[in-house]
Amino acid sequence: MTAKITSGNTVPNAPVRAHIGLGGNMGERQANLETAIAKLDATDGIAVVKTSTFIGTEPWGKTDQDWFLNAAIALDTTLSARQLLETCLAIETSMGRVRTEKWGPRIIDLDILTYGDAVIDEDGLQVPHPYIPERPFVLEPLAEIAPDLKVDGRKISDLLNG
Ligand code: ATP
Ligand code: CA
Ligand code: CA
Repeated sequence: MTAKITSGNTVPNAPVRAHIGLGGNMGERQANLETAIAKLDATDGIAVVKTSTFIGTEPWGKTDQDWFLNAAIALDTTLSARQLLETCLAIETSMGRVRTEKWGPRIIDLDILTYGDAVIDEDGLQVPHPYIPERPFVLEPLAEIAPDLKVDGRKISDLLNG
């Protein structure tokens, strides 16, 4: 057994199963999710292995904006968590995302939900993503593809039903 990853810079010696939460509420929302997933899968060191259905969700945190389309994917990667984050941020930028207000409208958002069983708490990188348990728009698609995945010791399916 290998030691639990606690650094975003650790390059794994075997592929790591990670989960990404995707969402957007501007432009062609379905096409944008599909494009982002294709770009992730086309990245060296990333293979997308499961994709949830796309679900329409009401805005969370900042509620005076359009509804979102959300999804979750599972991927296997030989990238470090930090490299995976940089990949996600680069794809967002390449698709035209501009950050204005916190939790505001966006073309595409790619969050690392989990990275193996790593627990990382660094500047600009927290894994598991801190808000998973309280976000139905994350739990619902994630439960479709990884119901038995555990976050903070609790199964996604239980978090969703609790
Ligand atoms: P939230 O993180 O609450 O969902 P958000 O997705 O709207 O909010 P962003 O503006 O997309 O926030 O990201 C802000 C920063 O969050 C990123 O630059 C990144 O460094 C940091 N961050 C920390 N942990 C993660 C993670 N697990 N996945 C993606 N970004 C993360
Ligand atoms: Ca987010
Ligand atoms: Ca984000």
